[in-house]
Amino acid sequence: PRSRQDLQAGRQVYTMATSSDVVVPAAARKLEGKVAVITGGASGIGERTARLFVQHGASVVVADIQDELGARLCAELGPEASSYVRCDVRREEDVAGAVDHAVARFGKLDIMFNNAGIAGPPCQSVRDSTKEDLEDVLAVNLVGPFLGTKHAARVMVPARRGCIIATSSLASAMAGVASHAYTCAKRALVGLTENAAAELGQHGIRVNCVSPAGAATPLATRYVGLDGEVFEAAMESLGNLKGVRLRVEDIAAAVLFLASDDGRYVSGHNLLIDGGISVSNQSFGIFN
Ligand code: NAD
Repeated sequence: PRSRQDLQAGRQVYTMATSSDVVVPAAARKLEGKVAVITGGASGIGERTARLFVQHGASVVVADIQDELGARLCAELGPEASSYVRCDVRREEDVAGAVDHAVARFGKLDIMFNNAGIAGPPCQSVRDSTKEDLEDVLAVNLVGPFLGTKHAARVMVPARRGCIIATSSLASAMAGVASHAYTCAKRALVGLTENAAAELGQHGIRVNCVSPAGAATPLATRYVGLDGEVFEAAMESLGNLKGVRLRVEDIAAAVLFLASDDGRYVSGHNLLIDGGISVSNQSFGIFN
C-alpha cells in the first residue's frame, strides 16, 4: 500500500523510498526541514533527486539553465517545497546567487548537490581532441562544482553544519569509459571532494560524491544515440551485476543516504553506483 488513503486510514505503509509517486510518512522522512540546492535539477538525476528530497520533507532550489523544465518541475512540487532559479554553473555570480536565493527564500542551506554536467563532444583520440573541448567540459563539470562548493561553504561554515555532494562518474574509477575531457573533470572532482572534506570537517561539514555507471538520462542517451530501453539493456549486458538495471532512482537514493543522517559519519567518500564493474576484471575468466 502506498496511497494517501492508506496513510489516512492508518494502515501500515511500506514505501519504496525511491519511487516518485510515493508519500513518505512523516516518521520516515529523512530530510524534514532541510534546505537543498540542486544544480542541474531540471532533468535526469537532479530532477529525480529533487523529487525524492521533497518527498523526504526538504525544500529544494532547482538551479539549471533549462528554465521551462525547471519552472514546470517546481510548479509540480509546489512553492512551499521548491523554487526555480536560473543558474549557469560556469558563472560565479549565478552560483553565488543560487545559494543566496536558498537562504533568502528558505532561511538556510543544509545540502548543496553539485550535479549539473555535460557529456561534451564524442569520444575521440587524444590526438584529435581540442583544448577548447577540454575547457568547455571542465567549465561545467569541474569549475561548476568548485564554485558550488565555495559558495555553499560560505554559508555553511558560519552555520557549523552542512553537506556537499557532487555527481562524479564511473569514469572517476575506470579508464576507457568516457572521453579524456570528461574523465579529467570527473577524476578532479573526486580530488576536490576529498580536499574539501579535509578542510571543512572542522566546521561540521561533510563532502562526498556519487559515481554512477550509465543511467538513461537525456545526457547519456543523446550521447550514445540510443533510446532509454535499449540504452539500459546495453548497460546491463556490459555491466558486472546481472538482472538489475541502474535507474536514476538508485542514484537519487544514494544521494539521499549521503545527505541524510544515515550518512552522518561519511565524508570524503566517492560512492560508486556501478554494480561492481569498476572492481571487476572478467577477462581472465576465473569465475566462468
Ligand atoms: P541530464 O542532461 O538529464 O541533466 C543534466 C542537467 O544539467 C540538465 O538539466 C542541464 O540543463 C544541466 N546543465 C548543463 N549545463 C549546465 C550549466 N552550465 N549550468 C547549469 N546547469 C547545467 O543528465 P544527467 O545524466 O542527469 O546528468 C547529471 C550529472 O550526472 C552530470 O554531472 C553527469 O556528468 C553525471 N553522470 C551521469 C551519468 C549517466 O549515465 N546519466 C553517469 C555518470 C555521471
